[in-house]
Amino acid sequence: MNDISIESSKNMLLKVCQDIIDSKPLLTEIDSKIGDGDHGIGMAGGCEKAIDALRQQENHPDLRSVFNTVGMAMMNSMGGASGVIFGSVFMGGSQALSNQESLNVSLLTRLFRAGLDLVKQTGKAQPGDKTMVDALEPAVLVLESYQGDDLVDALAQAKAAAADGVEKTKNYVARFGRAKSLGERAIGYQDAGATSVMIIFTSMHEFLSH
Ligand code: ADP
Ligand code: MG
Repeated sequence: MNDISIESSKNMLLKVCQDIIDSKPLLTEIDSKIGDGDHGIGMAGGCEKAIDALRQQENHPDLRSVFNTVGMAMMNSMGGASGVIFGSVFMGGSQALSNQESLNVSLLTRLFRAGLDLVKQTGKAQPGDKTMVDALEPAVLVLESYQGDDLVDALAQAKAAAADGVEKTKNYVARFGRAKSLGERAIGYQDAGATSVMIIFTSMHEFLSH
C-alpha cells in the first residue's frame, strides 16, 4: 500500500486514540512505578477529546486539518507535561503538511520529523534522557532511511524501532519529569511516554495491515 486517503487517515487516528484509551490501565501502571501515575489518565483524556473533535468535523479538507485537529485537542485538554508534548507531535507534524489529500511514506516521515523536532525544541529532552524522545527519534530515523514506498512495511519498521527504544529506556536515568528525582532507582523501569509512542506506531501499523 503506497498511500491512504484523508478519510482513511482520519480512521487511522481514531483507532490510534481508541488504542491509547484502551491502554489507560497499562500506561497508568507504568507511570506509577517511577512517575505520579497520571500518564494513562492524561493520554486517555486527550484522546477522548481528539476523537470528539475528529467526529465533529465531517469533512476535513486536507491531511493537515486531520492531524492538526488531533494535536489541538490534545494540547488543549491534557494536563501534565504530556499534553504539550503529544499535542506537539501531531500539531507540529501537521505544520509539515499542506493541502495534500493522501498520506504516503514521505509525508508520514516529514510529519513525524517535524513533530519530533518541535518536541525536542520545546521540551529540551535528548535521546537517553528517558522520555518519549527515546521511542520517537528511532522511529523517525528508520522512516528517514526507509527505501521504498510501502506504508505498511515502513510502519512495521518504525514500530519495531519505537519498541526497541522503549526497551532501552529501562537502562536510563531520567533527566525530566518526576522520575528525575529517583536517580538510579528509575533504572529497570520503562518510560511511560515512550510506551505511548510505541502504542501509537503499533496502532497505525495494525490499522493499515488489516
Ligand atoms: P507528568 O510528567 O506531568 O506527570 P505525564 O505523566 O502525562 O506527565 O507524562 C510523562 C511523560 O512525559 C514521561 O514518561 C516522558 O516520556 C514525557 N516527558 C516528560 N518531560 C519530557 C520532555 N521534556 N520532553 C519529552 N518528553 C517528556
Ligand atoms: Mg505522570
